[in-house]
Amino acid sequence: MTTISTIENETADGAPLPALLRTAPDRNCPLCPRLVAFREAARAREPSWFNSPVPSFGDPAARMAIVGLAPGMQGANRTGRPFTGDFAGDLLYATLIEYGFAKGVYRARPDDGLRLVDCRICNAVHCVPPQNKPLPAEINTCRQFLTATLGTMPKLRAIVALGRIAHDSTLKALGLRAAAAPFMHGAVHKAGSLKLYDSYHCSRYNTNTRVLTPDMFRAVFAKVKADLDS
Ligand code: SF4
Repeated sequence: MTTISTIENETADGAPLPALLRTAPDRNCPLCPRLVAFREAARAREPSWFNSPVPSFGDPAARMAIVGLAPGMQGANRTGRPFTGDFAGDLLYATLIEYGFAKGVYRARPDDGLRLVDCRICNAVHCVPPQNKPLPAEINTCRQFLTATLGTMPKLRAIVALGRIAHDSTLKALGLRAAAAPFMHGAVHKAGSLKLYDSYHCSRYNTNTRVLTPDMFRAVFAKVKADLDS
């Protein structure tokens, strides 16, 4: 059953929503020293890979945004497009195509011609972290780009947060109170005209352990689609 909560559209101290900032970091963004060192090591080891902060994918005029955690080493960090090249992308893009949020054939490479429809994909953290685990300070530092990305989507109505970290960082990016909107797979949190949909991350680990089944994942996007179409 879907849980719906309503959250207040203000920052914790009652201040207005955050000011708009740059939506994409520089290729050599220096703000997270640990991730910079990890990035440099990857560049030295795999010079043909993207190995840079991964930009958002999709139209800023879309009504739906998907917020992931961070690039995977062999996925977006290698190819330069979110969720492209590793298992998480297989399930995500198949689901987006099924519900009309993408068109084309996903071939796990950025030149496969796949187009997002009314959908934009971004990450809470733009650089690949060791063991897929960004530190709290890194999440906080990179949030300025998530804030700006969401803030420059004028038609935004639905945000799908993939996992608790994406959920928490999205709430902060929007200046919303976290306590009123705890993460739970399948939950929908309302904030004015905006809804935040929670899903477990579509990682190989979560699907292999059946924490997330393809049907559970499809149900989230079916709900978004129905809400946007209503
Ligand atoms: S994670 Fe974000 S803030 Fe940190 S170095 Fe990368 S792009 Fe910059």
